[in-house]
Amino acid sequence: MLFERIAFIGIGLIGSSLARVIRRDGLCGHITVCARFQETLDKVVELDLADTVTNDPAEAVADADLVMICTPMGAYGAIADAISGNLKDGAIVSDVGSVKQSAIDSLAPKLPKTIHLVPGHPIAGTEHSGPESGFAELFVDRWCILTPATGTNEAATEKVAELWRKAGMMIEVMDAEHHDQVLGITSHLPHLIAYTIVGTATDLEDDLKQEVIKFSASGFRDFTRIAASDPVMWRDIFLQNKDAVLDILGRFNEDLTAMQRAIRRGEGDTLEDMFSRTRKIRRSVIDAKQD
Ligand code: NAP
Repeated sequence: MLFERIAFIGIGLIGSSLARVIRRDGLCGHITVCARFQETLDKVVELDLADTVTNDPAEAVADADLVMICTPMGAYGAIADAISGNLKDGAIVSDVGSVKQSAIDSLAPKLPKTIHLVPGHPIAGTEHSGPESGFAELFVDRWCILTPATGTNEAATEKVAELWRKAGMMIEVMDAEHHDQVLGITSHLPHLIAYTIVGTATDLEDDLKQEVIKFSASGFRDFTRIAASDPVMWRDIFLQNKDAVLDILGRFNEDLTAMQRAIRRGEGDTLEDMFSRTRKIRRSVIDAKQD
């Protein structure tokens, strides 16, 4: 057993997948789950993911050794306000949010000094939401990035790392700002492009839009999967990682303009050279078992 009591604040795709791992492997003695709506809590009870449920975050964290925040990131400030007075001395507070510097900025100033803050980001997911969409194998062979501030208790960081290892993840510890730059390229920009392409299609005249859907197997459908991701979660990610996203978007726009120019000028070599380089990247992703 890694922890005696774990409290989940929010339990959708990510939280419920981790709770399933904890249940499967008996990693803690007692799980408390907090969500806003009774419907969510009823589902959690039905799925047997918790020993107790509540809609009060302060009540949920009392006596917890680990508090795992698994809500959209826009809720962090209010959650920190609600739990800070009720945390057990020496408890670990962690999270799974997709942007790390803003997670730290929202949580750290409000938590008592006796608390160990170990922010985390499991790089795994699907386009589905809610506790019913989770599954214990979600994390297997994926990376989990932890971004504890310098000076964070090493034993606390190691306990959080061990929990994710039990879920099948590989661990990397890095600076929060660096995490946000890397994820800006690997996750946030691709989602923005997918949302934009699918948005462009939805603005087309009706007859053309019907054909886009009919012939979507030619490429469009792969973007629709990403663009089906949770709107609230992704709204928060773009608002929280504004600087890194705008920076990478600037570079992307320059590269897109270069491609536009190559097409206009009929520069086939430029296009072929670019597409050959990108094909190699795909091979590297497959070789790294991240496809
Ligand atoms: P989700 O399936 O939409 O679940 C969100 C959970 O949070 C639900 O239990 C929801 O229940 C609760 N919640 C929502 N707003 C809340 C609030 N204001 N206060 C308290 N609870 C609230 O979300 P998810 O996909 O698991 O994502 C959760 C976090 O993981 C996000 O921060 C995201 O950045 C990160 N993440 C997601 C993925 C992914 O692919 N989905 C991957 C890696 C990391 P109620 O509505 O009943 O409150």
